[in-house]
Amino acid sequence: MHYTPTFVDVQSVKRLAKQHKQSHPELPHGKRLDLATAELLGLRNYHELNRRFQAVIDQYLDSPSGSNAVAHCLYCDFRFAADLKEDQREHREIHERVMEVHEITGYRPGTYVEREILKQDGHTKAHSVGPLEDRIEGALMVLRGWFDRSYRNAIDEGQWRKHPSFEAYVAMMVPYIEGLLPELAPSLAQRYGRTPGVIAHGQTCWPLQ
Ligand SMILES: [Zn+2]
Repeated sequence: MHYTPTFVDVQSVKRLAKQHKQSHPELPHGKRLDLATAELLGLRNYHELNRRFQAVIDQYLDSPSGSNAVAHCLYCDFRFAADLKEDQREHREIHERVMEVHEITGYRPGTYVEREILKQDGHTKAHSVGPLEDRIEGALMVLRGWFDRSYRNAIDEGQWRKHPSFEAYVAMMVPYIEGLLPELAPSLAQRYGRTPGVIAHGQTCWPLQ
C-alpha cells in the first residue's frame, strides 16, 4: 500500500514552500515546492505529490467511455466533460472544498442520489404504522437528507463553519415538521428543541449569511 496524500498534506507543503522563500530565496517557486514535498512527505518532488493526490480524487469518478461522455464524481457529485482541462480544474476545486471539510470535521454530506434515498426511505418509515421510535427514525432520515443539501450549499459558498449542526438544524425545522408530521413533531421538539424563524416555512436550507 503506497502513501496516499490528504488535502491537508498538500496545503502543508504549499505553506512550507512559501516559508522557504525566506530561507531559500535563490530557488524558483517550483523548486521550493519540491523541497517542501521531500521534507514533509519524503516524496521525490511536488509533481509526484500532485500525481498521487489527483489519483485520490479520481478514484471516485464514474466515467463512461465514448466521445462527449460526462464523468460523474460519486464523492463531490460534480458532473463534467472529462476531456476538458477547464472542467477538470473546476472539478478539482469543488472536490477539494468537500474534501477539506470532510478531513476537518469527519463528515461528508450525501450526494444527490444518497440524499434522495434517505428522503424516500425516511418518508416511508415516518408514515408507517410501526412503533413511534421507528417513525421518528424515518423523520430523522428525511431531515438528514435535507440537512446534507443545506450543508453542501454552505460548503459551496464557503460558509460551512457557520452552518448549524444537525441537532440545531432539526430544531429549526420542527415548526415545518409540525405541519408535515404532526404526530412526530412533539417528540422531535422534546429531543432537539424548537427554533422558529431561522429557516423560512416550506424551505429546507439554512439561509446563507
Ligand atoms: Zn469530486
